[in-house]
Order: sequence, then structure tokens, then C-alpha cells
Amino acid sequence: MEAGIVGLPNVGKSTLFNALTCSQAAQSENYPFCTIEPNEGIVSVPDPRLDRITKYIVPKKTIPAILKLVDIAGIVKGASEGEGLGNKFLSHIRQVDAIIQVVRCFEDPDVIHVSGQVDPIADIEIIETELMLADIQTLENAIGKAEKTARSGDKDAKVRVEVIKKCNEHLAADQPLRTLELNEIERAAVSSYGLMTAKSILYVANVGENDLEGKDPLVTKVREYADKAGASVVCVCAKLESELAELDEADRAEMLSEVGLDEPALHSIARGAYKTLGLESYFTAGEKEVRAWTIPAGATAPQAAGVIHTDFERGFIRCEVYTLEDLEEHKTEKDIRQAGKLRVEGKSYVMKDGDICHFLFNV
Ligand code: GDP
Repeated sequence: MEAGIVGLPNVGKSTLFNALTCSQAAQSENYPFCTIEPNEGIVSVPDPRLDRITKYIVPKKTIPAILKLVDIAGIVKGASEGEGLGNKFLSHIRQVDAIIQVVRCFEDPDVIHVSGQVDPIADIEIIETELMLADIQTLENAIGKAEKTARSGDKDAKVRVEVIKKCNEHLAADQPLRTLELNEIERAAVSSYGLMTAKSILYVANVGENDLEGKDPLVTKVREYADKAGASVVCVCAKLESELAELDEADRAEMLSEVGLDEPALHSIARGAYKTLGLESYFTAGEKEVRAWTIPAGATAPQAAGVIHTDFERGFIRCEVYTLEDLEEHKTEKDIRQAGKLRVEGKSYVMKDGDICHFLFNV
């Protein structure tokens, strides 16, 4: 799962991306299968449940879930017509699963704003418009081919044509596709087009050092806008975060308490992005390691096993599952088993957020 960070120039996007990824870079050794390009970084998703588990099962290593972030540079007004890095920018967005848009809410006379004044809603709308225009182009290119195939009697293509028309009407009414209700079949019919306004979005309001809680009316406007669009907002001061990222843990804790924050705002971005992507975690817990694994909400037990290794999905037999509450009540896995709380689940089991499991499989 990947989220792409976008934003107009000078909103603090690079500052934030560097802060997010610099404090986390050392952990990449735990994720050998994750190839990291220069404009990508992985961030861990802090999860207090890991601390609760390791109180009872003390491992050599604790490994949190991760998210891949991609820094997508280059959007300016006119990107859909090839302005700036236009097309390159758009092809990067097509590949990510969700979008994180950084909007500028900080005032600083030394940092020029591309449109002359700080206006986060205008920033959001510029990018949304470019993405909508690009989606319209994509659909225009697609419909001819889909209609031709539909005329030859292909049922799937007929559905595709109908969905393309539905999407076009929605975009023509100036609405992003994420607000268009489509059923599963309809969604699948257009999934290969990488429609950008259909991707979920998280807004990051980059606030000034004097407004860490985001009380500024500009931030309120972003929140109201996001509420209507069914999106979330996280407040961050990118400048402060980049300073925090460079400190060691003790100094970071001291600086956080000085400015009155409980944790780096980067943690809320990681969690916000995780939620925006519709992701959940399950855990594996043993003396060697306690680890969080990422699954889409609604994943079945074999799919969850497949996240650890594809062979686990293919050879899945069953899994043993317990909850964090079971662990807190009975203290050890042995006692959970004795109390009859260790559930045995089969192939059709739908994972619940926070399940702690062992998988049994054939190789
Ligand atoms: P990008 O073009 O969106 O990647 O923006 P940058 O991250 O390069 O930031 C542009 C300028 O704004 C840099 O000089 C940053 O130091 C400054 N900047 C970024 N975030 C903040 C912030 O939270 N407060 C203030 N005062 N300046 C910031």
C-alpha cells in the first residue's frame, strides 16, 4: 500500500516528506522486500497495542506496520495540460493507493506563495481541478474503445461504457469520483484506469509554529471542506517536525513537552493515512518478534497469511486466534488456550482489527 504526497510548490511538502522519512530510515532493514526509490520512504505506523502485547510476550524485536510514502513533485495549475512536470506527475499519482495533500496554513513573508496569498481551500481546488481534468481525459480516451468492444456484444464492455458515462456526468458536475457511489462490479469495470479523483485523500494542514493545535480560521476552513468531502485532516507544523526528526529520542521528548505535544504529529499522519487507505492490523506474537501486519479491512484469514508470505496463503490450513483482551486477562498464550479462548478459524474467517494469530499451513 502506498500513499503519494502532493501539494503546490512552497507548501512545505519536501520539508514534511524528509521529516517523515528521515526519522524512520533506519528501520528499512526489517522490510527486505520493499524496494525504495529515491523519492520514496517508508514510515512506521505507531500502534499502542504493540506495547500492550509486549508487556506479556517479551520479544527480541518489535516491528510496527509500515506505509510507503511517495513524494510526488511538480503539480502546478495546468498540470493536466502538461504544465510543469504535468504528465509525469499524473502518472505517479495513478500508481498510488491514496493521496496525501499538504496545504499551506502558515504565514511567512519569507516564503513566497505561488498564488500570492495563503489560501488552503484554493490550493485544494487547484489540485482537485487538475486531477478532475486528467480523469476526464482518461475517460474520453477510454470510451471509444469500450463502445467498440460493447458493439461486438461483450457484456463487460457494456457495463464499462455505462460506468464511464456515469463517471463523466459526475465529473462534469464538478464532483470528484470519490463521492460517486459505485457498486463492486461498476468499480471493477473502471479500476484499470487509475482514476485519480476516485482515490481517498487525507489533507495535511501545515500550520505555523505558533498554531500547533490548528486554531487558525484557515485550518477550520480545511476541516469544514474535508468534512463535506468525506476526507480527514491532520495538523502538522512541518518545520517543527523536521527539527524533531533530527533529534535523538531523549531530546525529542524534551522538545515535545516544551511545545506541549504528546507525540510527533508525524504519528498522526501515519495513522491518518492508514485509516484513509482503509487498512487494519493483525499481530503475530512470539519470543522472537512481535509484529503488526497490514491488511485491507475485510481480508480473510488466508489473505492475511499471504501478507507474511505468498506460500502461506496458498498452503493455508487454519489459524489460531485470540484477542488482546484475552492476553490481558490470562497473561500467557498457554493460559488462553487452557481457558478455551484460543479460537480455531478456517479459510472463510474474516480478520478483525487487532487479532493476534498463528497460521498453520502446508508448504
Ligand atoms: P515544497 O515546495 O512544498 O516542497 O516546500 P518546502 O518543503 O521546500 O518548503 C518551502 C519553504 O517553506 C522552505 O523554506 C521551508 O523551510 C518553509 N516551510 C515549510 N514548512 C514550514 C512551516 O511549517 N513554517 C514555516 N514558517 N516555514 C515552513
